[in-house]
Amino acid sequence: MVLAFVGMMLTTASAQIAREQLQTGSDEQLLREWTRVLSDDEFGGRKPMTPYENKTLSYLAGQLEVMGLEPAFNGSWFQPFEMISVTARPAGSGFSVSGKKKAVLRYPDDVIIWTSRATEKIDLKKAEYVFCGFGINAPEYGWNDYDGIDVKGKIVLVMVNDPGFYDSGLFRGRNMTYYGRWTYKFEEAQRQGAAGCLVLHHTAAASYGWHVCVNGHLSDNLGIYNPETRNADELVVRGWLHENGFKKLFLAAGMDVDKALAAAKRPGFKSFALNVKGDVKMNVAYDIQKTHNVGGILRGSGRDGEAIVFCAHWDHLGIGKPDEHGDTIYNGAADNASGMAGALLVAKKFKDLPQPGRDLVFLFPSSEESGLFGSAYYCDHPVVPMAKTVACLNFESIGPAELTRDVVILGGGASDIDNYYVAAAAAQGRHVNFDNDNSDGWFYRSDHYNFVKKGVRAVVLENGRLPIDVSKPNQYPMPVWYHKPCDEYHDDWDLSGTLSNVNLIFSVGLSLSNNVN
Ligand SMILES: [Zn+2]
Repeated sequence: MVLAFVGMMLTTASAQIAREQLQTGSDEQLLREWTRVLSDDEFGGRKPMTPYENKTLSYLAGQLEVMGLEPAFNGSWFQPFEMISVTARPAGSGFSVSGKKKAVLRYPDDVIIWTSRATEKIDLKKAEYVFCGFGINAPEYGWNDYDGIDVKGKIVLVMVNDPGFYDSGLFRGRNMTYYGRWTYKFEEAQRQGAAGCLVLHHTAAASYGWHVCVNGHLSDNLGIYNPETRNADELVVRGWLHENGFKKLFLAAGMDVDKALAAAKRPGFKSFALNVKGDVKMNVAYDIQKTHNVGGILRGSGRDGEAIVFCAHWDHLGIGKPDEHGDTIYNGAADNASGMAGALLVAKKFKDLPQPGRDLVFLFPSSEESGLFGSAYYCDHPVVPMAKTVACLNFESIGPAELTRDVVILGGGASDIDNYYVAAAAAQGRHVNFDNDNSDGWFYRSDHYNFVKKGVRAVVLENGRLPIDVSKPNQYPMPVWYHKPCDEYHDDWDLSGTLSNVNLIFSVGLSLSNNVN
């Protein structure tokens, strides 16, 4: 547990250092300093719900206060919310089902199951299984796997990814839509009133092997905890189903598995019940802890209470498995100390200007790494309503980077926000390289996507790919550092490109803050 610190946490010494640096430091010096401090070993990799949360929150709030922003959350810099961590095990060795024949789904070879409910036992008696294709209800693509089938109280079996993975003429082809993400499958099954949802694993369609599903869900499944409902309004069971488990269910039902899979990939597929039933009994251990988003606000002069949200997750992976050098601290310098530094610099630059038109919210969400939970909580409990939030400008892993002729934008083509980036890049003598290949689902994997789900405009800015000095290729390639202890700050980092990207986001924010669109 964290918590006694809220309200009494600023140490005068660190605040004074910050004040002096803020007055005298160049933009690059500030960017460097914030990145260096927030990724220092002292911050222990900034894992939520550890003592390092306290330290990170104090530092961020201190910087916002010294700059002269207002606390965003009813006079507080912090927005607390609770997280539940769940470990579930079957009461027996697996799950028996019976139809025409009997079968046992073994745990965790055939199926991995957990829950997000605060309960000590899962006890679904004689649960019925329904095969719902991709489990997608997408009116804009004329596709509804839940059409004409009652799944209330039943367990739905759904395929990962979307129809475009198998047929380039459907959906957006290999460019996976959000309907393909496993998180969507659970959300939709819950909306349909199902008791459970098991996602059928497929290595190519998921882009990772079965071991990833097992390792990711054997213990400590995280979710946002609602103390009023104790999450009793959520699915009873969530899980992944191995292809062998899926085949076992079809064998027990006396049905043709290949025919079903082929039919489900074509338009007009009708979901059907499997005519197998079985108890799902599990013992559950859970733990509830509090974490916090951090936020400051710069009030605008009007614009009907509208706001722009600048966003940079503060959390990273903490202290964990040692790398080959014995380093155990996952510092998260690029991911996402650099993003926080960028957001802080934009806040400072706005503070140095006359009052903006729209309100500017500077949001530092918790628990991004474990599933975008802090931003999801914020979007359900925003300080300015989502309908009045005109854009989200997210800073994710922006440093280091060399100067480039271009800047890469993911997720363009969805709104007129693209024009703001094109204009801001042109003013820097650069051009926007719109990258619409989202086959790896990257566009859905940072905080801005929770805003997009609520209808707020957002794109992802990535470092450019065309260095001005061609003798200096990308010095910090992502596969080398991504989610590893070696994601550490170095004084020789080239932040010139990072700074120009921050300036670009700042000028997009400046136009948005004063324009009517
Ligand atoms: Zn990140």
